[in-house]
Amino acid sequence: MGLRGDWDFLLHLPLRYLDETRIAPIDTAAPGEWVQVEGEIVDAQLRRAGRPQFVVRLRDERAELSLRWLHFFSSQRTRLTVGRRVRAAGLIREGWKGAIEMVHPRVTLCDRQTPLPDRLTPVYPASEGVSQALLRRRIAKAMVAMRCREAGFPDALPGALRERLALPDLGSALCLLHEPPPVASLAELDGLLAPAWRRLRFDELLAQQLALRRARAQRRKETGPPLAGDGRLVDALLARLPFALTVDQRGAWAEIERDLAAVVPMNRLLQGDVGSGKTVVAALAAARAVEAGAQAAIMAPTEILAEQHFRRLGALLTPLGVQVVWLTGRLREGMRRDALAAIESGVAGVVVGTHALIQDSVRFANLALAVVDEQHRFGVAQRLALRQDGACVPHRLMLSATPIPRTLAMSYFADLDVSVIRTLPPGRSPVRTKLVAGSRRDEVLARIRAEVARGRQAYWVCPLVEESDEIDATAAVRMVEETRAALPDLRIGLLHGQMAAVEKTAVMDSFAAGAIDVLVATTVIEVGIDVPNASLMVIEHAQRFGLATLHQLRGRVGRGAVESACVLLFDEPLSETARARLKILYESTDGFEIAGADLRLRGPGELLGARQWGLPMLRVADVERDVDLLDIARAEADRLLQEDERAAAAIVDRWFAGAAAYFGA
Ligand code: ADP
Ligand code: MG
Repeated sequence: MGLRGDWDFLLHLPLRYLDETRIAPIDTAAPGEWVQVEGEIVDAQLRRAGRPQFVVRLRDERAELSLRWLHFFSSQRTRLTVGRRVRAAGLIREGWKGAIEMVHPRVTLCDRQTPLPDRLTPVYPASEGVSQALLRRRIAKAMVAMRCREAGFPDALPGALRERLALPDLGSALCLLHEPPPVASLAELDGLLAPAWRRLRFDELLAQQLALRRARAQRRKETGPPLAGDGRLVDALLARLPFALTVDQRGAWAEIERDLAAVVPMNRLLQGDVGSGKTVVAALAAARAVEAGAQAAIMAPTEILAEQHFRRLGALLTPLGVQVVWLTGRLREGMRRDALAAIESGVAGVVVGTHALIQDSVRFANLALAVVDEQHRFGVAQRLALRQDGACVPHRLMLSATPIPRTLAMSYFADLDVSVIRTLPPGRSPVRTKLVAGSRRDEVLARIRAEVARGRQAYWVCPLVEESDEIDATAAVRMVEETRAALPDLRIGLLHGQMAAVEKTAVMDSFAAGAIDVLVATTVIEVGIDVPNASLMVIEHAQRFGLATLHQLRGRVGRGAVESACVLLFDEPLSETARARLKILYESTDGFEIAGADLRLRGPGELLGARQWGLPMLRVADVERDVDLLDIARAEADRLLQEDERAAAAIVDRWFAGAAAYFGA
């Protein structure tokens, strides 16, 4: 369960509590209540009719109830014999003919003098093989250790602030939550409101803010290559663009240009919806690197996307005399050698590729800028690899079409500066979104025929089966056969992640050229692909996708001036939450709004793909709900780092021991 040291156990907090401090008279126990009773065993039987059961009758001064076991050990039967006195705790159920009973209660032998516990009993998150009893024992031990060392662990919340926030000190908060006295009221223990819980949530947020600030301070010590170009290439690129930059694009470029000129390496996230024009901004940054005599690398998560970047950047930069080379794992040996040589000699100004770029065999003559597209699709190790490049750390620019709400960015990415492109370039027509039950497929097929008859094209996205290219590919192959049978007179293409790069490219090329009417595809088309004539996007089993993914898929249409639509096919019955989620997509086309809603519905772990980002997720705090605490934690983190570096380190350690390195990734 990831619990090792004392702090891990102290911060393993109860889910709820049982009240074993009291004995309830049996005749007051009502079905649905959790109670503890005490009495004498008056009958104990093994019933063999049907499924074997062990049933015990328990009597106190006034009434009787049954205790029933469907699974039991013979030791239980030898222990629970007629005449023994026991305490039984559990949920009261209505049994046979209105009688009351407990199924699988917790029982202990006792006598009339056995004392009752003087604390409520915490119930902890447990797992198979890790019992409540084991957790309680180990946590109690940690509590003892904590009390011995209490003076030695930093509470970090100054008395005055604690008073203002009406929060207890950390030690008292932990005592209350792990060993609550029976008089503790619900308000004192209720996770949302209780000061003790708020105190812990504050502590966790403080630890997180400290970790982020330390990562940032670490980065401030790095030196990067200040890129002060003469503007030759950047100006030429701007002059050649067939359009003017949008206000947001200009703003983003101004921020990036300033960062690139500095000695501290840039660490900036450029956020913008699909189609908002991030590529041009990245191209400007690359041009700046080259005109300053250095190299730029652009890394994309998939071959398709990398190739598209290669073509786009090539189209923008090659006419300016910049050599753009291409590097993926699937390159033929000769071409690979040439590419590596060009990278090492510095002849290649811009290198585009997949994660093949961060392999050991790749040596840059003078890498000054690393652009990572859709960085959340790379693992932590891969992102760290791009950072560690000898003495001089390249500037980093991350592109992301998954908008990250402000509060989240603030709390998880304090080490990251953020530029946002909010408005799409002019001339786009909004995409209409429809929710259609899967049973109405025929109408969708008719709709596709109509679009194709008007000279347009369509995407049909196959169900997301698993996070596995292979299984998705099988589903896609089946889908394309069905679609070909249903639409025999249309030209139908297939695209999935298991196809060879050349095949994929060939299919994409014919779709872009209009030689394919309907492209059946897996989510490989989620990012990057740009075919303005495609006006219809059909997404099968839409409820299985994350909102951010659906929004990105939808962004594949409406790239030109033609009226476009996105049909979300869903399966019935649709759960309440699933319906609420799809409705958000129907109502909004603003990626930030959608991400915010997704965050509220699914939490940050899901939205960000916590595992992919490698982020240490918060255990008790919630950056949205506890935003008031977050603000204070930010200020406190600044103060603490100035005044007491050691206390700061201890606080980070107790919450994120071992995981703290990830804050810098
Ligand atoms: P993103 O990478 O953010 O999804 P792209 O950079 O691929 O978006 O841009 C989408 C399309 O918009 C491209 O065809 C690009 O040429 C075009 N584009 C970018 N900026 C502008 C602009 N300012 N005005 C008009 N079209 C633009
Ligand atoms: Mg893009």
